[in-house]
Amino acid sequence: MTRIKDTDRGRKRTGNGNEPVFCSFCGRSSVEVNSMVAGPGAFICDRCIKTSYEILRKEISAIKPADRQPEKPFQPRIASPKAIMASLDQYVVGQDIAKKSLSVAVYNHYKRIDSQEWSHESDEVVIEKSNILLIGPTGTGKTLLAQTLANLLEVPFTIADATSLTEAGYVGDDVETILARLLHASDFDLERAERGIIYVDEIDKIARKSANVSITRDVSGEGVQQALLKILEGSVVGVPPKGGRKHPEQQLININTKNILFICGGAFEGLDKLIAKRVSKSSMGFGSRVKNKQTGYDPEILRFVTQDDLHEYGLIPEFIGRLPVISTLDPLDEKALRNILVEPKNALVKQYKKLFEMDGVELEFTEEALDKVVDIAIDRGTGARALRSVLENVMIDIMFELPSLKGVHKCIITVDTIENKGAPEYLSADGKKKKIA
Ligand code: ADP
Repeated sequence: MTRIKDTDRGRKRTGNGNEPVFCSFCGRSSVEVNSMVAGPGAFICDRCIKTSYEILRKEISAIKPADRQPEKPFQPRIASPKAIMASLDQYVVGQDIAKKSLSVAVYNHYKRIDSQEWSHESDEVVIEKSNILLIGPTGTGKTLLAQTLANLLEVPFTIADATSLTEAGYVGDDVETILARLLHASDFDLERAERGIIYVDEIDKIARKSANVSITRDVSGEGVQQALLKILEGSVVGVPPKGGRKHPEQQLININTKNILFICGGAFEGLDKLIAKRVSKSSMGFGSRVKNKQTGYDPEILRFVTQDDLHEYGLIPEFIGRLPVISTLDPLDEKALRNILVEPKNALVKQYKKLFEMDGVELEFTEEALDKVVDIAIDRGTGARALRSVLENVMIDIMFELPSLKGVHKCIITVDTIENKGAPEYLSADGKKKKIA
């Protein structure tokens, strides 16, 4: 099939002379139409192509989606939820419930995007975007989960802090800044940015302060929720590419947030009490179970969170509605913290070992030393976040000295080292202790 080019119009020949050609469907001559496509022994003009297309489109739309045979079966490009979870397991310790619901939500999200090319406009079922809300104490892996997912899926990722956001027109970041950062993270590849993931931290801090105290009601939190809502639900936003405030002279890049996945996280302090109050009112059995706990409240209570609880906490219903997947993270116990030190693919201990190896030194932590790190971290009450600071505090002096020490083959970190009571043990190549002045 060949197209007779527009430039040939006026001449529009069959190729063997100066005769115009005629559309085999409507009979118009090539001089009357914009374009003519030639097939074996026949021609079709652009008008007839358009009419045929319209007829076909209507026919396809009239078939019920269930009866329609797609040209090829839908094949999601994303890995299965089980495969996503298995990858998360390599980096994130515990939090199985959150990992499972994130794996499914992310699978559905990218399947939904891929299916947009496949499904038909008239499909009755429209799959909505499943932004995610993660609820759990500080340092339990909310940010890590979001970041790891983005790495696994190789999509651009950015983190925003809800507390730094303001309503448009106030001093502080506005929501466009978050999108500008995502654009940066994708090296200004708009198409990639529009499939990225944004983690919004401290989402609980923009809750309206107490739904029942009207005098001290904080309306600014609600304003920020409204501003975020705009990008969460999917809209085209003009973004200043350099971030910051919009300047009239600055050219804006339009980002469509329809396919951007938002994962919001927060500790939601006090939410457990709200839930416990509700649950104990409706079920005596559960109520007494909660009260029996020595520690005050059962962390498992968070699993019973409903949209109404979040509303009572101070999130506006429209905002909650845009976060249909809610998942909770557990506080990390001693065993989990101990695992975090050594198990994940890029565990802190593995990272230090690698750094030492580059200086030709084998690094070892005694079991008691690692237990001590966990003990100190637990006292700080900031989850796994404390592990890094406890270790870094100890390791900084050692890493300062080590490259200047001669003949050190092995370095053993003991409880005394962790408690700042003594230097680590240094061994020379023959296994003998080295005295360090
Ligand atoms: P959150 O966002 O819940 O406050 P983060 O994800 O920022 O906590 O965690 C802080 C650090 O603690 C992470 O960089 C990570 O090294 C470590 N961490 C926290 N939770 C986990 C976990 N479940 N598994 C492995 N590491 C974790």
